[in-house]
Amino acid sequence: MKNLLSPAFLNGSTRLLLIDGKWVPALSGKVFTTCNPANGVALAEVSDGGAEDINIAVAAARRAFESGPWHSMKPFDRQQCLLRLADLIDANFDELALLDTLDMGAPVASIAGKRRRAVALLRYYAGLATALHGQTIDNSQPGNIFSHTVKEPVGVVGAINAWNGPLGMAIWKTAPALAAGCTIVLKPAEQAPLSPLRFGELCLEAGIPPGVVNVVPGGAAAGAALAAHPDVDKVAFTGSTEVGRKIIQASAGNIKRVSLELGGKSPNIVFADADMDLAVPGAAMAVFANTGQVCSAGSRLFVQRSVHDEFVARLGAFAKSLRVGDPTFEDTQLGPLVSQAQLDRVETYLKLGADQGAKLVAGGHRLKSGGLDGGYFVEPTVFAGVRDEMAIATDEIFGPVISVMPFDTVDEAISRGNATSYGLGSGVWTRDLNNAYKVSRGLRAGSVWINCYQAMDAAVPFGGYKTSGYGRESGIEHMEEFLHTKAVWTRVS
Ligand code: NAD
Repeated sequence: MKNLLSPAFLNGSTRLLLIDGKWVPALSGKVFTTCNPANGVALAEVSDGGAEDINIAVAAARRAFESGPWHSMKPFDRQQCLLRLADLIDANFDELALLDTLDMGAPVASIAGKRRRAVALLRYYAGLATALHGQTIDNSQPGNIFSHTVKEPVGVVGAINAWNGPLGMAIWKTAPALAAGCTIVLKPAEQAPLSPLRFGELCLEAGIPPGVVNVVPGGAAAGAALAAHPDVDKVAFTGSTEVGRKIIQASAGNIKRVSLELGGKSPNIVFADADMDLAVPGAAMAVFANTGQVCSAGSRLFVQRSVHDEFVARLGAFAKSLRVGDPTFEDTQLGPLVSQAQLDRVETYLKLGADQGAKLVAGGHRLKSGGLDGGYFVEPTVFAGVRDEMAIATDEIFGPVISVMPFDTVDEAISRGNATSYGLGSGVWTRDLNNAYKVSRGLRAGSVWINCYQAMDAAVPFGGYKTSGYGRESGIEHMEEFLHTKAVWTRVS
């Protein structure tokens, strides 16, 4: 069934930058066009923020942090702002989600789960805004010198995001930053800027003072300017490992705080005793959800040899049963990839997989028929007979491609699972508590999902080991990313 909603936000006007509570064009006058990846049709023109716009946005965020109303607001008042924003996000979620559907291809069928997560994040951090506290610490100094700590916001945050969850990521970074008392300049991905801009409107409507949340769409130059800016205290980055390295280098000038949510090539391990009715769809959607454009996708699938052939056959059948198509149709399970560049990347790996000798079990091609010719659609793909050194087993593809490899023992699964520079997600499917425990402790990854995959919650931290980055998002840990701990020593006579 077709969803005929058309978001009011797409009214034909050029979408401007949100700086200091006002909508302004880029100083350069440049705009870029954001297109629907399902059909290539232009959705809107968007002001193309550059380094000079970032400078103005950072200055506004600095003023709001140092001397604006945000500076003097009590935790209770910040909490009220976040709760109002949560209500507004809830009330406007259909429109916000549809913007992501149109801008980057996320199926409308995924809206309910995303609504719950977005609202939960805002309410969770609203709660934490009034739960911040330091400690009173006994010390061993002679005399009456007492010590305690206080938590203070780090200051101006530069948030730079990828395109695969535009609204979710905007909220994910903004909620804890605001709860901590920081101000923020958000640089959404150039491929999908619409929902972050609408989010900026709702921040103003929620009564968040001007300059506290600034939204500056633009390309790599805007991101680089934010990462290097001497008046930005912290950069929160989600994106590729390659750009993550540049962020670290750019941060060196003023030694700014950095957190990095980067790429992955996550192992997903299925033991012979697993509940196959759970594991087959679980392992499939661990990669195919969001058309494989998920950092923690379980794209290296290790299956114990005794069930390997049966599992691969069922996985292939499952992949073929998935409905790929227009993401505005409510029964669509997989939408398009975000762009021609991403389609080119995925097609390169589809060819490499075949050329390097992997066996194609399902998919493997671009989809062009049935009205999909103008979009960036690919079939959900399963390769079996994959060797650990093949490109499809080592590289993050960021598309709907599963590489299946057989294994024999639990120790082998752990060591091959860890044989990657990444360490973001991981999964294990088994009824054996011993295997589950051993794998969960043995894998060097920020998340281990046992008999499930990709479960997320506002209260549970998420992040990487190794080249998947550092720092955590969600949970109390995420708040800490935006806080300094100050020690105060007091002599009393
Ligand atoms: P990307 O690194 O190319 O771009 C991410 C953001 O960085 C964009 O906003 C881009 O404009 C900006 N950017 C580009 N060059 C920059 C520079 N030199 N300095 C500062 N900013 C710059 O990533 P992408 O291709 O858009 O997204 C896909 C990648 O993101 C994948 O590797 C994926 O795994 C990763 N990702 C990670 C997580 C996570 O939570 N770990 C979540 C989503 C995506």
